[in-house]
Amino acid sequence: MKHGINTIDDYNVNGKTVLLRVDINEPIDKENRKLKDITRIEGCIPTIKELSDKKAKVVILAHQGSDIEYQSYYDLSLHAQAIRELTGMPVEFVPDVCGPYAVERIKAMKPGDIVLLDNVRFMAEEMTLFETKLNLTPEQQAQTLVVRRLAPLADLYVCDAFAAAHRSQPTLVGFEQVLPSAMGRLFEKEYTIISDILKSPARPCVFVLGGAKIQDTFMMMDKVLKEGAADLVLTGGLVANVMAVAKDIDIGKASEDFIYKKNLEECIETAREILDAYGDKIVVPEDFAYVEGETRREVNVEDVPQDKLLVDIGHKTIAKYEQIIREAGTVFMNGPMGVFEKKPSEDGTKAVCEAAADTKGLSVIGGGDSVSAANLFGVSERIGYICTGGGALVRFLSGEELPVVKALKNARTKQGCDL
Ligand code: ADP
Ligand code: MG
Repeated sequence: MKHGINTIDDYNVNGKTVLLRVDINEPIDKENRKLKDITRIEGCIPTIKELSDKKAKVVILAHQGSDIEYQSYYDLSLHAQAIRELTGMPVEFVPDVCGPYAVERIKAMKPGDIVLLDNVRFMAEEMTLFETKLNLTPEQQAQTLVVRRLAPLADLYVCDAFAAAHRSQPTLVGFEQVLPSAMGRLFEKEYTIISDILKSPARPCVFVLGGAKIQDTFMMMDKVLKEGAADLVLTGGLVANVMAVAKDIDIGKASEDFIYKKNLEECIETAREILDAYGDKIVVPEDFAYVEGETRREVNVEDVPQDKLLVDIGHKTIAKYEQIIREAGTVFMNGPMGVFEKKPSEDGTKAVCEAAADTKGLSVIGGGDSVSAANLFGVSERIGYICTGGGALVRFLSGEELPVVKALKNARTKQGCDL
């Protein structure tokens, strides 16, 4: 037991069927059918190996893609191949989540076997929207199909998905209601490290928030400013574009349409409220970049063209951010500053990654794409702490109780330690 949660050490898993929920949501190159990064997969390998070595039947559950990047819903066959290579063990990919085929394959498992079920977000009940629009209680989540079908086949639920610990969804908080439960080794490690950081963050504590998960980011921005965890927030990516609109800055029709197309207009209102309350603590870019053909062009906020998407922060903003980051006591980065996957729009993300690597203070990077960026720009080794979780990390740091942590703690009291 650690932090009031059971660990794998609390159970004898020999011969038992373990449902292992991991977060291996990775950027995918669909054209070439390749994973562009495998950091998160590497992160959960120790738990998978340990359970298999201890002769558990390991049934892995995972998601790929979110509603905001709808296109990245994808099956998990590539992930299975990566787990095979990293563990050196046979891993069966089952292209089914909880239908008759999945049930049949689980029943056929032998001790030590590893099976990866398909993308749990193929189940409507697991969708991200579920969390924001329907708000089911954990008890109601235990009534969802995936839990009703799989729980009876299992002896233990292990959650290693710290990166998804802020999501209240069936495969994350439902199983704890009905099965003995534990956290996996990666969960244990990440939760311990960030708990330690939270005790005394060195000041000034600077949050660098960008990327495209706008709803999540605004929720956490509000929280970290309200709770005083953040002394300053530097914005980039789509977050900055929305902030600019909220400040009545003309970001051009193309970029504004992009925000509406992604159904993010609600966020503009949220951004206004945050600016009203904490405007002096939020930095919005003074210049931006767009791409014409293959060429990067930069403009001040006053001169943004109507027909170009703003895809990065400009170099005046970069210079300002670099200095603030270098002198911070603590830097938390979540969400890239621009479309860093393309060369002409990588400058902002590259520069803040390098500044974070050089900072005098402690640097922490969280989020799937942010971690890929740190790898791409070769700074990972010099970052204080790389966390597989983005949303979970920042919410935890802002003092929120993570739904999965809560469910795991309750499971300890409710389900006990006997298998
Ligand atoms: P993380 O995975 O680190 O939490 P997100 O998933 O929120 O980050 O955002 C990453 C994505 O945001 C990247 O694919 C990147 O291309 C995209 N992005 C960054 N800046 C912009 C922008 N200005 N316009 C559109 N997309 C952007
Ligand atoms: Mg992402």
